[in-house]
Amino acid sequence: GSGKYKGMVEDCCCDYETVDNLNSEVLNPLLQDLVTTPFFRYFKVKLWCDCPFWPDDGMCRLRDCSVCECPENEFPEPFKRPYNIAGLPSDNLICQEGKPQAAVDRTIDNIAFRGWVETKNPWTHDDDTDSGDMTYVNLQLNPERYTGYTGPSARRIWDSIYSENCPKYSSGETCPEKKVLYKLISGLHSSISMHIAGDYLLDESRNQWGQNIELMYDRILRHPDRVRNMYFTYLFVLRAVTKATAYLEQAEYDTGNHAEDLKTQSLIKQLLYSPKLQTACPVPFDEAKLWQGQGGPELKQQIQKQFRNISALMDCVGCEKCRLWGKLQVQGLGTALKILFSVGNQDKEGDQTLQLQRNEVIALVNLLNRLSESVKMVHDMGPDVERLMEDQ
Ligand code: FAD
Repeated sequence: GSGKYKGMVEDCCCDYETVDNLNSEVLNPLLQDLVTTPFFRYFKVKLWCDCPFWPDDGMCRLRDCSVCECPENEFPEPFKRPYNIAGLPSDNLICQEGKPQAAVDRTIDNIAFRGWVETKNPWTHDDDTDSGDMTYVNLQLNPERYTGYTGPSARRIWDSIYSENCPKYSSGETCPEKKVLYKLISGLHSSISMHIAGDYLLDESRNQWGQNIELMYDRILRHPDRVRNMYFTYLFVLRAVTKATAYLEQAEYDTGNHAEDLKTQSLIKQLLYSPKLQTACPVPFDEAKLWQGQGGPELKQQIQKQFRNISALMDCVGCEKCRLWGKLQVQGLGTALKILFSVGNQDKEGDQTLQLQRNEVIALVNLLNRLSESVKMVHDMGPDVERLMEDQ
């Protein structure tokens, strides 16, 4: 049996075994295909950071480390040198972005997207206004994986996310809304760690990549709560996608490549109307239970503000590729929160019908795919994971 992963995913409506089967057999193959389509593989993003939190510590000067859009041999030598930031020991200063594995390939897609509107999201910190600074990144060329970004800079971001924005709930915490935010972040963190361990630079001299099982155990698998939170986040985002079915079904996936766009539409429909999803796990998460108590609207505003802070923190991630995936996935979570909590509810703000930006849809689906891969990786570890859990 699967030990600690028996029964229902906490606060969700489906059990682990069902989720694993549904994911491996239906959702993961569809999502893997979907994210390669032209509509879903280009993400518009501002990668140059305006970190609002630690303005004078040199973090944003890491821009000079970023890899330029020119052939490797034109890459300016000084950009590869470690940066000198006063007061920090020099091993903090390794310019992670000078490493090839941290480089972002900004393949600009010059095709026109049509039929999408600009719309606000109260859950995210919107920095999409300066279009001049935005660039299209081909996500297929920039897999989320190990980049070497570590140490105090990475640590500080996770620490402030947890300590300032979503303090770990005490076991007596009765406010389910606060638990949700913590679990979403922890689940995302687990998934990011899974991808780092799942695609790791095992041997730098031979440029050999592969799974680092030890790291996987150490960072995620030996912490059952981190695994559980990852399943929770997956079901939460899946619920947002299914709740937005009417919108996603009719959305404009036109990129100018007719054959590919038809495929995108067909895959979206197969995902939304998968018979297995409808029978096995029709309502992956029940959002209607939240914000019902006294002070619901105020609490929502408070949590919205916390999540906006988390979203703004992504500008402080000091490695370009990590920033890319951090921004995408936090925007994806913000989109899920918007779908589940800001539309079609009783409060004033929710009176509107659902409107999503193109980039929100791209972020949402790519996030779901990242989580789906992570869930599959855990599942594929099979008896190893169970044995480990039993050792606990
Ligand atoms: P960290 O992962 O930094 O964790 C810090 C602390 O948080 C842990 O000690 C633990 O107390 C707690 N913690 C860890 N996991 C969880 C969890 N699931 N739930 C609750 N608490 C937890 N590095 C890459 O190589 N590639 C990337 O693409 C990448 N993307 C990143 C994106 C973001 C937004 C950030 C902030 C960092 C990213 N990093 C990336 C860095 C990476 O996440 C780690 O910070 C780094 O590898 C150092 O790991 P660590 O072992 O110190 O623990």
